[in-house]
Amino acid sequence: MDRVKDRYYLELALQEASKALEEDTYPVGAVIVDGDGQIVATGRNRVHTRKDATAHAEMEAIRNAGESIFKAKVNREHFTMYTSLEPCPMCTGGILFANISRVVWLLNDDMGFGGYKKIKDTNAFDSKFCKVIAVEEPLDDLKEQQKELMERWLSNPNHVHNLRKGAIEGKVK
Ligand SMILES: [Zn+2]
Repeated sequence: MDRVKDRYYLELALQEASKALEEDTYPVGAVIVDGDGQIVATGRNRVHTRKDATAHAEMEAIRNAGESIFKAKVNREHFTMYTSLEPCPMCTGGILFANISRVVWLLNDDMGFGGYKKIKDTNAFDSKFCKVIAVEEPLDDLKEQQKELMERWLSNPNHVHNLRKGAIEGKVK
């Protein structure tokens, strides 16, 4: 049953990721869901759209969740964060600060900025991480879709390699 629910919300996260790519920024999307399965907030990467290096999908979702994050803490409610990519170090911090009790992501990011597992493995924040259930890469077909978005991102004009190329060409002129 959980798997069916997870698929539904992960598909929504993937849709947000796809929108982000259409907006020429990193294809990552996130959805926060409460214990009754109600969507509390969604977010997608807005780093390039807002010119804000911290505007990651998970941070946006937490920001959009507003007061409900605090109410959840007081009422000991359990929120789940669904994200299309393994949270980076910043978003991992955000997830711990927001008292999210379950995190599910579609694709690991070992070679990129994936931070959740690396930080957890240090055991430095055991008392925080032990309150969070993490589920990595539960659905292969959706994982492939996120991979595809990441591959499409490589040729996006806002990808740093392409921006650098543009900067060099600009200098040559
Ligand atoms: Zn992040």
